[in-house]
Amino acid sequence: MTIDKIETYILKDTLSKSFFFSQWEYSERCICVVKVTASNGEYGWGEGYGPANVLEAGIELLKPIVIGLDPLENEVIWNQMYRKTLDFARRGTLVASMSAIDIAIWDLKGKILGLPVSTLLGGAHRTEVRPYATGLYFTSHDNPSQEFDEEAQIYISQGFKAIKMKIGLGVEEDYKNVKRMRDLIGDDIQLMVDSNHAYNFREAIQLAKKIEPLNISWFEEPLSPEFYTQYKELRNKTSIPIAGGECEYLRYGFHQLLRNNSVDIIQPDICASGGLTEAKRIAALASTYGVELIPHTWGTSIGIHVALHFIANLESMPGRMKRPDFLIEYDQTENALREELTFPAIEMKNGMIKIPNRPGLGIDVDEEVLMKYAI
Ligand code: MG
Repeated sequence: MTIDKIETYILKDTLSKSFFFSQWEYSERCICVVKVTASNGEYGWGEGYGPANVLEAGIELLKPIVIGLDPLENEVIWNQMYRKTLDFARRGTLVASMSAIDIAIWDLKGKILGLPVSTLLGGAHRTEVRPYATGLYFTSHDNPSQEFDEEAQIYISQGFKAIKMKIGLGVEEDYKNVKRMRDLIGDDIQLMVDSNHAYNFREAIQLAKKIEPLNISWFEEPLSPEFYTQYKELRNKTSIPIAGGECEYLRYGFHQLLRNNSVDIIQPDICASGGLTEAKRIAALASTYGVELIPHTWGTSIGIHVALHFIANLESMPGRMKRPDFLIEYDQTENALREELTFPAIEMKNGMIKIPNRPGLGIDVDEEVLMKYAI
């Protein structure tokens, strides 16, 4: 059996209302998904995390390397893509294009063999994971956090036990918002903060000190991802766990974070950092440093299913009978491509999401919806 066809689709959805974070404003969702078809007619879906048109160009470049190879030999295919682009694209969006193809091949392999991706990865240590709500983006430039209270109440009423909020407006304004959120949600809901590398070292320390008494589960991307040593120094100055890694690529990038003791939690985006093949290696590397791994997710429901299967296979480090639930990032901002593109729909029950045990990623793409959003 060989890989016969690789097709890309750029999907775009204009948001009913734009929102922003510390770096820029979103007024649309634009994502590149890929379909890989084998000679027997079976197919798999993948997606990349990054600028959609650049991802598509990268997939065009990779196509001739992948076509004609055996979809069951996904590590061999991964190595071919990596080796033949290494000289000019060791990091960045071309790795995300590789990730999209790699993911589609895992989905395809699962469908060919009739096995879920979690089984192909080595087996599911758990049958469900606990989603945390990513939201609380800024909605108005005059009063950025004006809708936070109402939004947080919705998450709690939906059964979320953990919420991640955006910060990065300045130390004083962030402190006021985080304090208000903790007062609002009470002590039983986990609260995380994400500045998307908005701060310098001095500001990050100031803010960490101020929010330390508010029981923050992690401070995500406090600093620019390049400053591995400052991350380590920040960790030494605060009791809040430090998280990062959504801008890293491949095991080599994550090794920088790990060997510099930069973070308590690494957050690879599987759709950018090298796909499922490389994510498994990144997880093995993290386990040798005793660092927790909670993947970053964004994009369509394909990417969320990739993370579900991957988390199912993550080892408990350390092992013990009574361990907190494994978390999955579940973005709650407006996103038709998360709600409509694939079936069956993601279902959250009693605050948990079940890992699908159907072949491949356990979903299929609704091609009518695909054509509705394809440009
Ligand atoms: Mg983040």
